[in-house]
Amino acid sequence: LDQKIDVLDHGFVRLVDHMGTDISVSRAARISYDAAWRPGDLDGSDSRLIRRLWNDHHTSPFESIVFTFEIFAPIFVFRQWHRHRTWSYNELSGRYRELPEVFYLPNARDVGVQSKDNKQGRTVGDVMALVARRAREIERIEAHNKAGFELYRDLLESEWPRELARSHLPLSTYSHMFGTVNLLNLFRFMMLRSHPHAQMEIRVYSDAMAELARTIAPVCVEVFEAKAKRQVVIDRMLNFLKIKHRSVEDLEALAMKEFT
Ligand SMILES: Cc1cc2nc3c(=O)[nH]c(=O)nc-3n(C[C@H](O)[C@H](O)[C@H](O)COP(=O)(O)OP(=O)(O)OC[C@H]3O[C@@H](n4cnc5c(N)ncnc54)[C@H](O)[C@@H]3O)c2cc1C
Repeated sequence: LDQKIDVLDHGFVRLVDHMGTDISVSRAARISYDAAWRPGDLDGSDSRLIRRLWNDHHTSPFESIVFTFEIFAPIFVFRQWHRHRTWSYNELSGRYRELPEVFYLPNARDVGVQSKDNKQGRTVGDVMALVARRAREIERIEAHNKAGFELYRDLLESEWPRELARSHLPLSTYSHMFGTVNLLNLFRFMMLRSHPHAQMEIRVYSDAMAELARTIAPVCVEVFEAKAKRQVVIDRMLNFLKIKHRSVEDLEALAMKEFT
């Protein structure tokens, strides 16, 4: 516990609490055979069972592991995060306290340009002239944000209510929350947010949580990642061939039909 991974310029994810480990998934599944609660460690048959459960969509046993993460991230990252309704959240309130002047500034190399073939994405290349231009623009953003925070503090000084004075602060302002989620819903989050198409600024948090979850449930995370990687390869292939989205299972079923 208390493992922390730093991400972006000021952000972090910390695993602050958890319930269960790999063995919990196996125990939950074995009740199907009316098996008694089994103390002790994981063995090879448990690992095989976990793999089969995940590949066969027998997902409920994965809900027996629960994590609480402490997260420090820009508000625009939380806007995406909070769409995941299966988490329980508690976040810092700008009505209760003054927001500290901490905002996200991207690395000039990570900005790139608006993608031409992916409406929601960016194209990043290491073109020196572009990186230099982005660095100058980031300096302007920094000055703009600092002026925004100065105005915020002036308004508070002039007895503006905190709940209203904050309303012009940038979406890049960092916020702080605790999020609790079971492993199945963490996997659903990771499927979307660790995907190469996810925005880099949330992907780094998703990838960090995968590393933290791995320390508690290494077999489950390995089994999940193996299948997720296959899905990413298939998504790319279908995208290239301009074929509508199909899952790994659909394609495996199709292949079976073709070859048997
Ligand atoms: C690349 C990308 C682009 C996006 N772009 C946009 C956008 O432009 N605009 C926008 O508004 N959103 C956008 N989203 C958000 C997206 O539509 C989802 O709201 C978000 O990803 C949460 O996914 P979820 O509903 O699967 O997650 P969760 O809320 O965590 O739900 C997990 C799963 O539980 C089930 N579930 C939960 N609640 C319900 C329910 N009420 N009814 C039925 N099933 C439920 C579903 O199976 C769901 O997949 C985008 C997401 C991604 C990854």
